[in-house]
Amino acid sequence: MISLGIESSADKLGVGIIDDKGNVLSNVRRTYKPPYGSGIHPREASEYHSSTMPKAIEDAFHESGIKPEEIDLISFTKGPGFGPCLRIGAVTARTLSLSLGKPLMAVNHPIAHVEIGRLVGELDDPVVLYVSGGNTQVIAFSERRYRVFGETIDIPVGNCLDVFGRNAGLSDKENPMGRMIELEALKSSTYVSIPYVIKGMDVSFSGILTHATRLLDSKKHPLEDIAFSLQETVFSMLVEVTERALAHTRKEEVLVCGGVAANSRLKEMLEEMASSHDASFRGLNADLALDNGVMIAWLGILMKQSGVTTEFEDTIVDQHFRPEDVEVTWR
Ligand code: AMP
Ligand code: MG
Repeated sequence: MISLGIESSADKLGVGIIDDKGNVLSNVRRTYKPPYGSGIHPREASEYHSSTMPKAIEDAFHESGIKPEEIDLISFTKGPGFGPCLRIGAVTARTLSLSLGKPLMAVNHPIAHVEIGRLVGELDDPVVLYVSGGNTQVIAFSERRYRVFGETIDIPVGNCLDVFGRNAGLSDKENPMGRMIELEALKSSTYVSIPYVIKGMDVSFSGILTHATRLLDSKKHPLEDIAFSLQETVFSMLVEVTERALAHTRKEEVLVCGGVAANSRLKEMLEEMASSHDASFRGLNADLALDNGVMIAWLGILMKQSGVTTEFEDTIVDQHFRPEDVEVTWR
């Protein structure tokens, strides 16, 4: 079985093709860049996706050497994400499905991150820390569903880093903003006190963002000290919740995915935590750790092979689609 997957939930447009043995045949990704100094505007990102989509699909077929008629399944992201962006992917998937006469599969984006991690990280049953610009969740499999053990109750950690970086006047032209903060943090080892906010198993970053921005405005501390302290604080919070999920579930593997997973300090802290529980730790390379069409295509295959179907009427997008809404039939 060969599946084509379309990912368009946020700033990235992904078109990926994978077969049922897990061979990645193509992984095309285009990224919408907002105007300098501003965040992602959903409508503008969706306009980027709709104008970029035809060529991205063409490139994916070209890269894979597969002909459109050889595709067996069209998978797309049902949610969560920005409504206007998700709708571009869904409309494209419906169009391809109707014109090629192939079935559709609507998939959950966080679960797709987990499943591509299990595949390429060769993991069986990890506790997953999913940290990106749009999501912050600790996810693990339990009782036939992927359960969210902890999550942000306000903004995602990547968004906290991005807005802080913009407030600090850092430019994200050469590197993602999180990487710019990481580079600042590397220059310091001076910790300035920042609130540590965990509520039960959940985390909160909006007050921390305000606090860090006020520290900047006070001009009492150099940027590198605040960047270092911000990283140490928010990553410690994430590692604590991940550790508690690991201890509770008694699993033996930890996986980190999403854009923030590129951060070396976060990976170092997670690795240390995992090893103290005799658990293994894995990150993924950026091509599959960031939003991509391959993970959507792969989850489509797993669902299809376990007997799941998506009726045309059920291809409507869901901005708040949660992992636990999906019954896991493929494990
Ligand atoms: P995603 O939403 O998965 O595309 O990831 C984008 C997020 O990852 C943005 O918030 C980036 O600032 C963040 N990011 C990228 N590289 C790094 C890094 N090295 N350290 C921390 N955050 C990063
Ligand atoms: Mg994502």
